[in-house]
Amino acid sequence: MRLILLGPPGAGKGTQANRLIEKYRIPQLSTGDMLRAAVAAATPIGLQAKAVMEAGALVSDEIVVGIINDRIGEADAQRGFILDGFPRTVAQAEALDAMLAAKGLKIDAAIELKVDAQKLVGRIVNRAAEAEAAGLPVRKDDDPEVFKTRLAAYFRDTAAVTPHYAAKGLLQEVDGMASIADVAASLDKVLSNLS
Ligand code: AMP
Repeated sequence: MRLILLGPPGAGKGTQANRLIEKYRIPQLSTGDMLRAAVAAATPIGLQAKAVMEAGALVSDEIVVGIINDRIGEADAQRGFILDGFPRTVAQAEALDAMLAAKGLKIDAAIELKVDAQKLVGRIVNRAAEAEAAGLPVRKDDDPEVFKTRLAAYFRDTAAVTPHYAAKGLLQEVDGMASIADVAASLDKVLSNLS
């Protein structure tokens, strides 16, 4: 199963992907996680991406497409994967279509977690507070001001990705404002209807 989780930052894509990887035994491919690892390891890509990420802007299509192209070729991704945070622009979606077509593969569904953008800022303030309370590092880009920039990038560049998959008949919508358990149940329902 090859899935894409769509929705603005803070919509719960990471949380839901974590459960789905257990259920389907396929990896979550999060470009945000991969970029954060590259920044932490100070690789050449990490050095390029650091300031862009801290400002809440988008890293170049070329970098993230390259990362995903390499990652989907790895052994654990051969049975499928869940893309989280990619594609974030129409150019990335088109590059993904081309790289999968070259391997004779396709996406089974793109699932959009639909959320109220106004409420997301509150959600992200909670995420930062919870991380702090648990003694975990707080993401620099979870600062409320930077988060607003990330949301603006979403509406400017990423919102157009949803129609890309709708046009292919692959888009499924789930209410992302419900509880984590209810969102999980809606996702399970969508996925059981796929096979
Ligand atoms: P995320 O964890 O998905 O919210 O991503 C954190 C940050 O990484 C984003 O704000 C961007 O700076 C960068 N990033 C992650 N995925 C992408 C992508 N597909 N395209 C461009 N930038 C990305």
